[in-house]
Amino acid sequence: MAGERRIGGATRLAGVIGWPVDHSRSPRMHNAAFAELGMDWAYVAMPVAPERLEAALRGIAALGFAGVNVTIPHKQAAAGICDELSAAASSAGSVNTVLVGGDGLLRGETTDGRGMLDAIGELPAGGGALVLGAGGAARAAAAALRDAGVRVAIAARREDAAQELARELEVEAAPWPPPAAAALVVNATPVGQAGAAHELPLPEPLLDGAAVVCDLAYRGDGAETGLIAAARARGIRAVDGLDVLVGQGAIAFRLLTGLPAPVAAMQAAVRDG
Ligand code: NDP
Repeated sequence: MAGERRIGGATRLAGVIGWPVDHSRSPRMHNAAFAELGMDWAYVAMPVAPERLEAALRGIAALGFAGVNVTIPHKQAAAGICDELSAAASSAGSVNTVLVGGDGLLRGETTDGRGMLDAIGELPAGGGALVLGAGGAARAAAAALRDAGVRVAIAARREDAAQELARELEVEAAPWPPPAAAALVVNATPVGQAGAAHELPLPEPLLDGAAVVCDLAYRGDGAETGLIAAARARGIRAVDGLDVLVGQGAIAFRLLTGLPAPVAAMQAAVRDG
């Protein structure tokens, strides 16, 4: 039957670990990529409580997984568990892809920063970037923007967390709520994803100062977040969390499989219903 797929003894396994993880569109994105390339691979979502993260990561090595993606809230903890880290993961202190080596060792990578830059494309000339949040995604986003030569400020509801991250990355910290936007605003909080869609992570009038808005948060049902809707209503170029999901997922796909990602199939899959 057309479209039928079989999982068998030779099927290679990958997946995503989060807590919770039911909102994730990574399974449909990666499974669509495997189908597009006719690969005998399967990708599953695995809810893992924080206190079981290390056991789960050692478990995927024992079970012969090729690797897993790691999402909220595990990215920083995963960086402390992996046996080795890529330069990007080490510099961001955050891991979103764990690769299982032939020796069973866990290698931590982050594709969040590079994937976000790929999704944004052309960066606004001048005017800096304001990153909202101080967790793993904010850390990866701020480090990637800084490395791309952008002046970065970090604002988070726990101002001490923003200050500490800014100090570590040698960028600026801004108060919470931020008093002004920047040419590029990146939301790296779950606001708009968890809870009500219409909630914004910054006072809406501040958006008037932005040229590009990038929302890492995305809705499980694929609907617009409040931030993306507000940006589009103002004619501001908006890069949504699904664009970023595909950006980071395409790089992760290549790391997991060694093959170039079928990006068009992945984009269609994440926006399909
Ligand atoms: P973390 O839990 O590591 O960090 C979340 C940050 O947001 C923390 O600073 C947290 O503050 C802050 N925050 C949480 N709730 C609120 C709130 N209601 N108001 C203001 N600030 C808040 O998460 P991650 O960094 O891993 O992920 C952040 C978001 O980005 C998630 O929604 C995640 O799904 C999304 N994401 C999407 C990607 C994509 O491909 N589209 C890639 C990576 C992440 P505090 O410490 O005080 O709780």
